[in-house]
Amino acid sequence: MAKSTCGKCGSHNFETVVNTPEQSKFQLLFIQCAECGNVVGVLDYFNIGTLIKQFAKRLHINL
Ligand SMILES: [Zn+2]
Repeated sequence: MAKSTCGKCGSHNFETVVNTPEQSKFQLLFIQCAECGNVVGVLDYFNIGTLIKQFAKRLHINL
């Protein structure tokens, strides 16, 4: 399997950091290089799949 590589510094170590960009009303999860901070991806703070399962369980819906 190929190993993910930072396009800026060549590191293979990544981390998830909670961040609220300027002009944003929401927290986001930045996937970034653990060595230089180069952002390679952004995710919603809440995991939508997990939230849907929680709501379905409360509504007694089997997914
Ligand atoms: Zn890097």
